Amino acid sequence: MIGRSSHKDSVKISREWLIWLAILGVLTIGMLQVREHLNQAHVALAYLLVVQLGSARGGRPLGLTLAALAFLSFDFLFLPPYYTFVVQNPLNWLVLAAFLLTSIVSAQLLYRAQAEADEARQRAAEIDRLASLGAETLNAARAEEALTAIVAVIRSTLALDECEVYATDEHTGAIRLATRAPASGADENEDARQPAPLVEWVAGHGQGAAEHVDGTTRVGVDPTAAAREDQVQFGGTRARAVLRPLQVRGRTVGLLRIANGAGLSLSPAQARILDALAYYAALGVERVRLAAEAERAAALQEAHRAKDAVLASVSHDLRTPLTAIKGLAHEIADSGDERAEAIEEQADSLSAFVAKLLDLSRVTSGAAVPDVQANEIEDLLGAVVQRTTGSLDGHELRIELDPAEPLLFGRFDFAQTVRALVNLVENAAKYSPARSPIDVTVRRTGTELVVAVADRGPGVPLSERERIFEPFYRHSASAPDVGGAGLGLSIARGIAQAQGGSLTYESRDGGGSVFTLTLPAVDLTGLEVDAEP
Ligand code: ADP
Repeated sequence: MIGRSSHKDSVKISREWLIWLAILGVLTIGMLQVREHLNQAHVALAYLLVVQLGSARGGRPLGLTLAALAFLSFDFLFLPPYYTFVVQNPLNWLVLAAFLLTSIVSAQLLYRAQAEADEARQRAAEIDRLASLGAETLNAARAEEALTAIVAVIRSTLALDECEVYATDEHTGAIRLATRAPASGADENEDARQPAPLVEWVAGHGQGAAEHVDGTTRVGVDPTAAAREDQVQFGGTRARAVLRPLQVRGRTVGLLRIANGAGLSLSPAQARILDALAYYAALGVERVRLAAEAERAAALQEAHRAKDAVLASVSHDLRTPLTAIKGLAHEIADSGDERAEAIEEQADSLSAFVAKLLDLSRVTSGAAVPDVQANEIEDLLGAVVQRTTGSLDGHELRIELDPAEPLLFGRFDFAQTVRALVNLVENAAKYSPARSPIDVTVRRTGTELVVAVADRGPGVPLSERERIFEPFYRHSASAPDVGGAGLGLSIARGIAQAQGGSLTYESRDGGGSVFTLTLPAVDLTGLEVDAEP
């Protein structure tokens, strides 16, 4: 029996010794009765048998003790002259020496075979344990259940009073008790289970700590070593509990606390198992975290879906009554009531807003599948000029095509891209000083067409350069009288991305904004793949 030294074991060992010493005694008395009929070979063989069986059953110390006793009684009782250790016949020395040597060697060999068999049995039990743990954790449907199963296995495998796993919150760094396996009959309320300072320390530093039976603690220790029976205990105190950080890919995800009221005492084999099981626990904690994250993401997605559905349905249902209101207001205006004109105007702007809402819901839900075709950039810009004439409030729209490549083709949905560009040009007019020109340039870079809309307005502060592309986001300082609901840019970006392009913001040298729309380019020849210019 290697390793364990519990009370039960030592009782078993001393019983084994008593039995074999008794057998040796009985054999000696038996042989004494028939001494005259025995020669040295009989005595030597009979003793050898007892020594060998004794060491096989009781280990090396018992084997060697039996060998020494048998040697003495052989000499004292069976080699003439009897009842003295004097050996008359020199040849008998040879017999005695051969007996002693054979006994010792066989005790030693049997012991080693026994130890190896024990070791193999223990390894097999370890592998069994780990395999059953693996199966249990894989079987558990929920991540929390798997972790609880792991903790229960650790406690039962190492015969512990308590085993607890704490998990660290990835975002806040807070540590909480994830699961514990209480000792049978232990009082659940005995402790409030608030993370103790030692728990916080281990989680924060990613190093082990030990609590000793005398109530003192020690941090920065190797927790497995502190729990081992063969480890010299610190200042004579044994560890009652050890805390070890749980790490996955170098990140501390939580910690494992194992405790035994009477003191921890792990054999080298158990210490090895603790190391393996701790890794399972770390993976268990990580799985709980990932499961929670997946749940959160699913809830978020569900919320988005619900929001899109409401957006689509509200914007759709508003259109019909708005058309009716506009129609009625028009009729009343014809009959000379001036207030009806105001109603008509309001209905128009509300209609425009509802149309944008509907666009947004289509773009974000993916319902607006772009009708992507090869189109000429000149046609696109022509349509944009036509749609913005009259709404630019005196701003001049200057268009510049790449002089090196006058014939530029792209692959995009014509109508949607016109809408996106019109929105960029109208924004430029809306947010820049009166009469300042708006510049639209087109270049080709590699496989992309880059359409830039630049103005001399105030630009967008650094902190808001991504947020302006979010739905309903309006710059806090945007003049309220310029209208708009913060939807235009999110729709335009959605359109660009749906056809494989992008829409980004950059500040303009010398002041102002540049909104850059990229679209997939088309090679006229359809054969060559252009290199970067
Ligand atoms: P809207 O113009 O309807 O408010 P957009 O989505 O088109 O909504 O624009 C969002 C915000 O981005 C605007 O409120 C404005 O603050 C900012 N913005 C857009 N275009 C420009 C621009 N050319 N210059 C400065 N700010 C702009």
